Amino acid sequence: MTRITNESSVSAARAVLLGNYRSAPFVFSEGQGCRLKDVEGKSYLDLCAGIAVVSVGHCHPELTRAIAEQAGRLMHVSNLFFNDRCIELAQELVSRTPFSKFFFCNSGAEANETLLKLARRHHYEHGAKQRTTIITAQGSFHGRSMGALTMTAQPKYQEGMAPLVGDVEHVPFGDVAALRQRINERTAALILEPVQGEGGVVAASPEYLRAAREICDAAGALFMLDEVQTGYGRTGRFLAQAWSGVVPDACALAKGIAGGFPLGAVGVRPVLEKSLPPGSHGTTYGGNALACAAALAVLRIFDREKLVENAERVGTYLGARLEALAADATLPAAADARGIGLLRGISVASGFDPGAIVADIRKRGVLVSIAGGTVLRFSPPLCVTEAEIAEGLTAVEAALRAATRVATPGS
Ligand code: PLP
Repeated sequence: MTRITNESSVSAARAVLLGNYRSAPFVFSEGQGCRLKDVEGKSYLDLCAGIAVVSVGHCHPELTRAIAEQAGRLMHVSNLFFNDRCIELAQELVSRTPFSKFFFCNSGAEANETLLKLARRHHYEHGAKQRTTIITAQGSFHGRSMGALTMTAQPKYQEGMAPLVGDVEHVPFGDVAALRQRINERTAALILEPVQGEGGVVAASPEYLRAAREICDAAGALFMLDEVQTGYGRTGRFLAQAWSGVVPDACALAKGIAGGFPLGAVGVRPVLEKSLPPGSHGTTYGGNALACAAALAVLRIFDREKLVENAERVGTYLGARLEALAADATLPAAADARGIGLLRGISVASGFDPGAIVADIRKRGVLVSIAGGTVLRFSPPLCVTEAEIAEGLTAVEAALRAATRVATPGS
């Protein structure tokens, strides 16, 4: 019998899958908690969690059981009707967040498309048809569908995709003066990430978020948060908005919400409850019973295992360890530490190759990702322990120590 290897599986993958991803040459086939196994049986410590998605760890037995049971009872009826699991999930989210109503979809991009449409349609419904401008921040990431891509203010993602959606503007992230200058009677909404995840794990200051809320209120514009990466416990609060106390008019969620099962959501404050009238927006799979049952199981696991609290506690430990690495004068490849809770990063100093360092960390059996081109990002399952973080950082430190300066032109 031919042995399945990573190499043969990668060749098989490249033969049939489009080349739009830069997937590393690992093929995983099993997971448990914070560990993944590749097709050759080699185990890895997963500090990436499918980019902040696998919130309760791989194959949590309660989540697995909930999905299996729901699959045997009811999966999908479409939004021509209601289903019981969708109602229960919305009730749970209403009780845990500042939002009074929810809309469900299937991904982060879809949730952000919803924010965009919700903002424009809200003003249209209120007779302010000139309010169509959507403002987002430079360095942001909101997804890859055309609306979300236009909101994503990073040219590399937009290359070759023009024409983009009209009337979307970008401001420098963290710059209050720019908000004052740009938000006006034509602005439909300002949409920000509390921490720019893909942009390099860059946190907005509470003062910036408070100023943003005030400026939007004064101008009659909506203020919305994209919590696709930061939401659902990732930063040590159920939503990252809790750190600043700033309540947006609407908020996008996805990633960790169903522990790996595709689901997105938008929560709205009362002001927006009537802004998407019947027929104005929708998606076939949105709020299907199977995805909602998975999300309900995730919430039960959060409560019983105190995973949001764990994200804060272990996240503080991770942050302190990253600070120490960044401050270590014998590690010139490590620049600065950043992030909140279990969304953390350490930037790689210029002159070193972040891609080579991440590849070396992976060779040492630990999975982390790169954000913003130069930042080693840590977004582990929220059940990660200090011992697992310590184990992972041993590999990270070794790779940073082994990193050599890349030749720069003229050197
Ligand atoms: N918004 C943020 C803040 C994200 O980090 C991402 C994905 O990384 C998205 C939106 C897009 O989510 P999805 O890939 O599920 O469409």
